[in-house]
Parts: sequence; structure tokens; C-alpha cells
Amino acid sequence: MHRNLRILRPNWMLITITGSLCALISLASAAEYLNGIEWDSPPIVTPGETNSDPPSDAIVLFDGDDLSQWTNGENWKVEDGVAYSGKGKIVTKESFGDCQLHLEWKSPVPPKGTGQGRGNSGLFLMDRYELQILDSYENETYHDGQAGAIYKQTPPAVNAMRPPGEWNTYDVFWTAPRFDDEGGLVSPAYITVMHNGVLILNHFELLGDNPFSRPPAYNAHPPTGPISLQDHGNPVGFRNIWIREYQDAKGKQVRKPFLKDGDKETPIED
Ligand code: MG
Repeated sequence: MHRNLRILRPNWMLITITGSLCALISLASAAEYLNGIEWDSPPIVTPGETNSDPPSDAIVLFDGDDLSQWTNGENWKVEDGVAYSGKGKIVTKESFGDCQLHLEWKSPVPPKGTGQGRGNSGLFLMDRYELQILDSYENETYHDGQAGAIYKQTPPAVNAMRPPGEWNTYDVFWTAPRFDDEGGLVSPAYITVMHNGVLILNHFELLGDNPFSRPPAYNAHPPTGPISLQDHGNPVGFRNIWIREYQDAKGKQVRKPFLKDGDKETPIED
């Protein structure tokens, strides 16, 4: 015990000396850095009761009642608050650009088929960029085709799949691609995804769309597009789907960044 105290004592002295030096330095440089940006007040959003519930600014795309927000919804079965993928894809009537999307899905029970034939569906951003939905619980397939993959571009970082019949969540953060007036790509699409709260894609840069039989490519399209859910012949269940349009905080650069020291303002030169 004594020995430990002796070892500690010099450290405390060091901390005291360092603290005093910091205080002296901060007295000598009291100028504050200001970035010269006039920020808008961020809009107030009331969060949902849990992080799975829609916040106040969300558009609810399916709350268990019906698929009236989707074209072709009449060809999917809705039972006990769950929509089951049926004949043909369903497509939102509204279009979205940059967004946050929450979706819950479960693989069929009992599991049927293998590989890509087992619990296959897909979440298509802008009706063309596919985040794979598949029963990837103890089901081998090509890795850039398993659940959480950007189909044929990248596997998810990890496999966070729940067993068939249990609900999975996808929380998707999407940056739409930008095109110029001539149709050239200005900036690619980016996607970040949490699967059951686990980060599986972190700002992944998409190479284009996700067809089965040709390389990914960007073909110019409008700045917004609908969300679609794939019919791959398997009755995958869906519930609690909502989306928020996303915009970065807004502000105006009203003057150059500067240092403020009392009344004295010193611009920071580039
Ligand atoms: Mg699919």
C-alpha cells in the first residue's frame, strides 16, 4: 500500500504542474475562433417512443393497416399487421432523394429453399439500387448476395441476421447520386446501414445499379425516386416501414472566419 502511494505521488505533482501550465496558456490566448457562418435553427423533431418508432417528421409507408402508399400493393397479402411479398414488386407512390429509412422484415417459417432461393426479397432505393433481403441465417450463398449486401457490389461487413420468423430491422442512411444536365455523374450514391442495430455498411460508395447480368452502371435519373420492395417468389414479411427526407443543417457564410479577443477581431487568412 505504502509503496503504491509513493509511486502515485510524483504523478499527482506532474498533473498539478501540467494543469497550471494549461491555465497560464489559456489566459494568454483568450481569443475565440468563430467560423463566420450564420446557422439556421435546426427544425425540431420529436423522436418516436423507441428508436424503431417513426419520429414526428417521418412519412409512414406501412404501419400494418394496408399498402395504400404503394402501387401494386393490392397484390401483396396483409395479415395481422404484416405485409407478405406477393405478385410483383411494390413501389411507393412518393419519391425520395437523400433519406433515412426504417424497415422491419422476417424470413418465412419454416425456411424453404437454399442460397438465393431462400427468403429472397430486396429493398430498392430509387427503384434501382438494391440492399439485399435474404434469409442469411445459416444459409450459404455468394457473399455479395447475402442479406445486407449491396447486390453484386459488396457483402455486409458482418452477418447480423436473426433466425427465420424473428424480426430483422434495417436502418438505412442514403445519399442519392447527383447527375449534371448532360447526364454525367457528379457524385455517386452512398449508403450506411444498420442491421438489427449493427453497422454493416459504412458510407459505402455504390458503383451504380445492381443488375444480375451486367456490371453496375450509373444511368442518369431524376434527383428523387420511389422505394420498391422485390418479389422474388418467397413470402418475406414486412412491417413498420417509415422514411424521413434528409437535409444537412443550413447556414450562410456571412463573413470570413475570425478570432475574437474582446472587441478585437482578426480575420483568418486563407
Ligand atoms: Mg433480392
